[in-house]
Amino acid sequence: MKLDIITIFPRLVESGLGDGIVRRAVERGRVDARVWDLRDFTEDRHRSVDDVAFGGGPGMVLKPAPIFGAVDRIRRDRGEPSAVVLTSPQGRRFTQAEAQRLSGLAHLVFICGRYEGVDERVREHVATEELSIGDYVLTGGELAALVVCDAVIRLLPGAVGDERSIETESFNRGLLDYSQYTRPADFRGLKVPEVLLSGHHAAIRQWRRREAIRRTLERRPELLESASLDVEEQQLLREVLEERKGANDGDTRD
Ligand code: SAM
Repeated sequence: MKLDIITIFPRLVESGLGDGIVRRAVERGRVDARVWDLRDFTEDRHRSVDDVAFGGGPGMVLKPAPIFGAVDRIRRDRGEPSAVVLTSPQGRRFTQAEAQRLSGLAHLVFICGRYEGVDERVREHVATEELSIGDYVLTGGELAALVVCDAVIRLLPGAVGDERSIETESFNRGLLDYSQYTRPADFRGLKVPEVLLSGHHAAIRQWRRREAIRRTLERRPELLESASLDVEEQQLLREVLEERKGANDGDTRD
């Protein structure tokens, strides 16, 4: 996968790509990442990328010319991108499903906004999509682009050491992940659930599935409405609901 990220803070983006799974994916050639300094596409002595907003108001706006220039250069040097993503709090919400979709594309370009945002003509004529990482406002799009790149890169074949971890993790099938424990089995008297020490694989698997359903029901019940549960999970869901009903009935009697 080719990744091109346009920013006024190239070192910030490079540092975000420089460790862990992401770095390994780059080193192994699964990801060909380039970070572009927006100031290299300016034509004035001060290398200015921003200007005041027409109509007045506080703050500066990223000018269209350097961004258009950077994307033209990427097209020339790196080929036609599959998507040009504008990071923006006004964009479509980034989710695991979006990460899955983007991980199937061959070439992504990210535009990192700053200040009050980018000139609207960039959104209309350069970006093919606009993504938000959540309902809050960051100072710039660099962290948003890194969040998206991180979630996408780990889905690429061979990026994560053991791909089974992706199958069970949160949101993959609309469920949250089960709880995890590691050694020691008894830490300051806090014990790991007995079943996980039993070596009984079928029982462990069933405990984990039940745990994933219980957690999702407790924390993000709306996910269950669109989760793709198999027959066993549907049965486990009924059992967990029954348990909860029993516990609630007990509470109201007390
Ligand atoms: N004035 C803009 C607004 O209210 O919609 C906010 C601009 S913000 C201070 C500067 C830049 O940070 C944006 O252009 C965008 O690139 C990035 N950004 C901020 N919040 C974001 C979010 N939740 N998701 C993705 N990008 C974000």
